[in-house]
Amino acid sequence: MSKVIAFLGLGNMGGPMAVNLLKDGHTVHGFDPVEAAQQHAKENGVDVRGTAAEAVEGAEVIITMLPSGKHVLDAYQGAEGIPGLLELAAPDTLFIDCSTIAVADAREAARLAHDGGHRAIDAPVSGGVVGAEAGTLAFMVGASEENFAAAQPVLEPMAKRIVHCGEAGAGQAAKVCNNLILAISMIGVSEAFVLGEQLGLTHEALFEVTSNATATCWALNTNCPVPGPVPTSPANRDFTGGFASALMAKDLGLAMHAIESTGTESRLGSMAAQIYQDWAAGEAARLDFSSIITEIREHSTA
Ligand code: NAD
Repeated sequence: MSKVIAFLGLGNMGGPMAVNLLKDGHTVHGFDPVEAAQQHAKENGVDVRGTAAEAVEGAEVIITMLPSGKHVLDAYQGAEGIPGLLELAAPDTLFIDCSTIAVADAREAARLAHDGGHRAIDAPVSGGVVGAEAGTLAFMVGASEENFAAAQPVLEPMAKRIVHCGEAGAGQAAKVCNNLILAISMIGVSEAFVLGEQLGLTHEALFEVTSNATATCWALNTNCPVPGPVPTSPANRDFTGGFASALMAKDLGLAMHAIESTGTESRLGSMAAQIYQDWAAGEAARLDFSSIITEIREHSTA
């Protein structure tokens, strides 16, 4: 059934996600403080409003797709004299936060929404801008059974896969674990390819063996960090497009927060976080995270 949805955060991900909701027959009121994001969403048919208050007027569902946990909590509670969404929304509104934020922030957002007389779920995504545009994102959801059932039809036009991971915060927990594996495996694949180069192996031979053997993983088979074996991987276009190193560094910061707060042993996670933090501090911030192979080559003695 079609719904009135307020969509806050019309950036690289939120813009195309809002468009897919529109295409599915929902009424979408968008808001973003940045002029370029507003303009782009308008050109794609989104009814962009001048303020968050105007966007949430009459909305049954409020979706946020914002840069960080602070942005989400500030938007929910209000900041700098701007009233919060929890106050502006009609009673029992369904809040869906799709941003990647800390587990603790997601739990806090859900608690605040519940105390304010609303329902809330965390629903971070993987699949990047390409998945947002194609409506093929993977959603990891933290919610009660009831709230998950209410959110599912809203998520479907944006999704290829929707997994209910548990109660509030469980979606963010799954996201942080996924990206921890991804970062470590990308560094491992990159080190192995540089070692192969040093030992005189061709990329093709090493790929042929590893992608069909026990080393197989997404970082190797789909996002291969060397040009050639997988023609669609970002390495074939100087690491442009794809998943930015800066976003990987951000997600590993969230992983480290979770690792420290739970007392989990994660030596490789800590190293991966440091490696990506250093890499993203420079010009590589915007490059796909598989560009880490360049850093490994630079540090290897020929
Ligand atoms: P982005 O910076 O392109 O978009 C975020 C937008 O939020 C910006 O346009 C900003 O102006 C807007 N914004 C900030 N405060 C706002 C407010 N109070 N109300 C309304 N809008 C507000 O970032 P993105 O790439 O779209 O990522 C959004 C989230 O999705 C992040 O948490 C990111 O980690 C996560 N994510 C991104 C990708 C990716 O590949 N880009 C993949 C998975 C998850």
